[in-house]
Amino acid sequence: MKEMYTCDHCGEEFPLEETLLVEGDRLCRHCTASLTALCDECGTRIYLEHDEGDSNRFLCSSCRERYYTRCDRCNTLIYNENVYEYDGENLCEDCYDEVCTEGPIHEYDYVPDLVFHGKGLRKFGVELEIDEGGKSRSNANRLLEIANRDAVNLYIKSDGSLDDGLELVTHPMSLDYHLHEMPWEDILDEAKRLDYRSHSTNTCGLYIHISRMAFGCTYETQEECIARLVFFVEKFWPELLRFSRRTQGQINHWAARYGMKLNPKDQIYHAKNSCAGRYTAVNLTNADTVEIRMFRGTLKLNTLIATLQLVDHLCEVAVSMSDQELQDMSWFDFLDQITEPELVQYLKERRLYVNEPVNTYDATEVF
Ligand SMILES: [Zn+2]
Ligand SMILES: [Zn+2]
Ligand SMILES: [Zn+2]
Repeated sequence: MKEMYTCDHCGEEFPLEETLLVEGDRLCRHCTASLTALCDECGTRIYLEHDEGDSNRFLCSSCRERYYTRCDRCNTLIYNENVYEYDGENLCEDCYDEVCTEGPIHEYDYVPDLVFHGKGLRKFGVELEIDEGGKSRSNANRLLEIANRDAVNLYIKSDGSLDDGLELVTHPMSLDYHLHEMPWEDILDEAKRLDYRSHSTNTCGLYIHISRMAFGCTYETQEECIARLVFFVEKFWPELLRFSRRTQGQINHWAARYGMKLNPKDQIYHAKNSCAGRYTAVNLTNADTVEIRMFRGTLKLNTLIATLQLVDHLCEVAVSMSDQELQDMSWFDFLDQITEPELVQYLKERRLYVNEPVNTYDATEVF
């Protein structure tokens, strides 16, 4: 006579070969079919109520623990080897793609729909690199909260040239807007508080994009003015190099000069035919802007303002002087036009202002 076993679930009796062991219980076939499943990893039979898998797979708890991680955003299970780590979170591929495109830290080639701030056609877009404080999303969000509290002023990109930092990019703004509406002081203070550095790194630049429209409404006028701008930079290279706070090595790498020519027309012809690319002091490769790349990064408000004021003067020279007037102009003639207190102070710090003695020097740039 066959030995009979009682199903631990329904209590009916069955021959041994018609029962199965599940997590220590003996079950009949019917109960097995309705109450259990096989782990898709190890093949162990488990109760459905103990299944730790998802809609695609059954998993016992030990396989779940050993091989899988849950996405911190969408909660789906991911094979450990397919987990993307981003800013302390474990993400599936879809969520990772999403955070990379949605920000707050955008890829280096990201361009938003631009928002223009302030009056007039002379607009400046600032790219300020900060480093050594992390590529963290929470830091980026903090800086954006401050910068964009009243208007859409700033976005943030990652940049391969930085070790562990962020690139802060403004929408195009008039000088007046940069000085009086853009909360630069609070942004720079917060960056310092978050342990970022800019001047004191070897990686950070301060790049200023000037809208082409700042130089006139026709292509020809713009080209003539831009020629004078490039000529000015070459003509006063030693002064501007000192102003920039860059080392010669940094300049050669990130913002090389074209080499001076006798007048603006030869200068621009030379610049455009130099094949120098974008890592030049005056980058002419963008369609809608001329980019001054010379300046070293800074977290010092006065230095940032002075740099913008200087670039504004460069634009003024480019649009208001003739080629001949510019060729005849000396550095001291140029200084005569400068009255802004921030710029005067900075020029004194850099020993570029007439013969005034200097009492503060590099020690003022500690960030
Ligand atoms: Zn049963
Ligand atoms: Zn298993
Ligand atoms: Zn996900």
